[in-house]
Amino acid sequence: MVHIGNWDNKTITVSQKNNCVTISIETAKETQVFSFDKAGRLWTALLKKISYRRGLNGNVVAKWNSDRDILHRKWLNEQEKSNLLSKAHSTIQMIVDSLLVKDYFLPPLTTKTVSELMHLAKVGVDFYQDDLQDYHSIYKPVGILPPDQYISFVLQLTEGCSFNKCTFCTFYRDRQFRIKQPQEFENHINGVINFIGDGLSLRRTIFLGDANALVVPTNKLIPLIEVIHRHLDVEKLGGLFAFLDGFSGERKNAQDYKNLFQLGLKKIYIGLESGNNQLLKFLNKPGTAKEALNAVRLIKSAGISVGIIILLGAGGKQYQAAHITDTVDIINQMGLDADDLVYFSELIESEGLTYTQNAFNTNLIPLSSAETQLQRKFIEENLIFSERGTPHISTYDIRDFVY
Ligand code: SF4
Repeated sequence: MVHIGNWDNKTITVSQKNNCVTISIETAKETQVFSFDKAGRLWTALLKKISYRRGLNGNVVAKWNSDRDILHRKWLNEQEKSNLLSKAHSTIQMIVDSLLVKDYFLPPLTTKTVSELMHLAKVGVDFYQDDLQDYHSIYKPVGILPPDQYISFVLQLTEGCSFNKCTFCTFYRDRQFRIKQPQEFENHINGVINFIGDGLSLRRTIFLGDANALVVPTNKLIPLIEVIHRHLDVEKLGGLFAFLDGFSGERKNAQDYKNLFQLGLKKIYIGLESGNNQLLKFLNKPGTAKEALNAVRLIKSAGISVGIIILLGAGGKQYQAAHITDTVDIINQMGLDADDLVYFSELIESEGLTYTQNAFNTNLIPLSSAETQLQRKFIEENLIFSERGTPHISTYDIRDFVY
């Protein structure tokens, strides 16, 4: 339900959905927008043409475009986060105060919406402090998610990465890989349900953390997934999603994937990185491109879709040609269709990254930004898909990740 009203030379819109409340305030100079989940947490905002997105972990990323359409990004510091939250909730307080004078909305606000606004107006520093404390008591920091899973309901069935040695990745260096026992996992699920509370309606899918929950042997994995079914309506929440490094640990067979499909597994994200085995070796990525191909075929034959991630710029100029040719070749054999995804993720280097040290040691010449985009273009242009449709092809920028 959308309610629109004019107050103090502002056009105020209250949009009440079953998963969030969005308020926009429009003046001749600016439009401000604030969106909250049903527990009262701010999750997106727009102020002075800067968009903000807040994660459950309290981090807030701000993004804006310059005149030349270049995207800028900044993670807010503590003071900036606090200012944003104050601004959001004091704006709601202003609307609640104005309603004491008269209800100027059309259609008039329902009692339920008024009480929701009053609840949002009351949310303050204490709420967010307690919320963050709860978050850290139930989660190890969520390292990364695919971009289409940022508003999933993450359950850390495992912690860390069973391999943890790829030279370009530091997401899970702070923890040992381990599989949760059923009782511990059940406690974790209950903890996440209590923590997210009414915000559950905003969550679209269930993501099994961390890096490769599907490496868990099937005879241990199925009882853990059954625990999820005892506590959550998996189908209603959009099904189960997970990463798979796929090529270390126990390999799953076609029947394993069929069983997992029956239990609600919808999509598996695979960091292929490249179709070139020499480059995979340079990246210290476990397994070969052929093994990734075999895994994809098994997964898809079970009815589960895949998200394939390609690491753009990896190996610099020395590997450029082979990276393009072999990646195209392997993806074209995967039989991807409209249910699948292909992500292009640019290699992000940083000081201390083993990849950067190895690149330095071997005199690797990095690709410029334009060359990296050209690499994507060459790969994308040569992908051939069947009559079953084209996968959604998109950018995966790990610097945008927020949960
Ligand atoms: S398998 Fe994935 S999560 Fe693990 S180290 Fe390699 S890239 Fe990182």
